[in-house]
Formats: sequence, structure tokens, C-alpha cells
Amino acid sequence: MVRTSKKFPGVEWIEGRGEYIKINHNKCTGCAYCVNVCLAGCFKITKKKAEIVNLDECMECGSCWYICPEEAIQFFWPKGGTGYKSDWG
Ligand code: SF4
Ligand code: SF4
Repeated sequence: MVRTSKKFPGVEWIEGRGEYIKINHNKCTGCAYCVNVCLAGCFKITKKKAEIVNLDECMECGSCWYICPEEAIQFFWPKGGTGYKSDWG
């Protein structure tokens, strides 16, 4: 199934990505860098720990993984043929 979003014209997501982003709560300090860097609003802080709200509009940019100072976020590429696609590459 393919999803679109009014917020991001020209983008679609093919469902079935699997669990491609994980947070290690033992390492997370709740700094909120991942919350602030994510343009898709995928994270929130609950009880001083990052939590995934949902990944529906995740663009698989890897910024959350890159910016986390504690290496608490694991990022894997979604399964082939699934996930983010855009009109501009
Ligand atoms: S950037 Fe890393 S340490 Fe900071 S809140 Fe997010 S997951 Fe936790
Ligand atoms: S990969 Fe990018 S869009 Fe997806 S959750 Fe991380 S920062 Fe947000």
C-alpha cells in the first residue's frame, strides 16, 4: 500500500519497512536532539527518554542517528522496495 501526505507534496511511502529505527533507552539521556532535528515529527520525549511517535512520514534521512550524541539510535535501511520515495530522487 502507498501513502501520501499533504505536508510533503511529491513524496510517497510504500508500506512494509519493518523496524528500521530503534532507540536504546539505556543510552538515551533525553537531550531531545533527535526531536528537534526530525522534520517529520517522529520523536517525542517521555519521562526523559526519546520515544518514536510514529514513522509514517519519516524520510529516512538518518539525521536522528547522526545527531544522537549517545549513539542511542540505531538506523537500518528499510526493506528493499519499501519506504520513502520522492519525485526528485
Ligand atoms: S538524541 Fe539520542 S540521547 Fe538525545 S534524546 Fe534522542 S535518542 Fe536520546
Ligand atoms: S530518519 Fe530523518 S525523518 Fe526519519 S526519524 Fe530520523 S530524522 Fe526523522
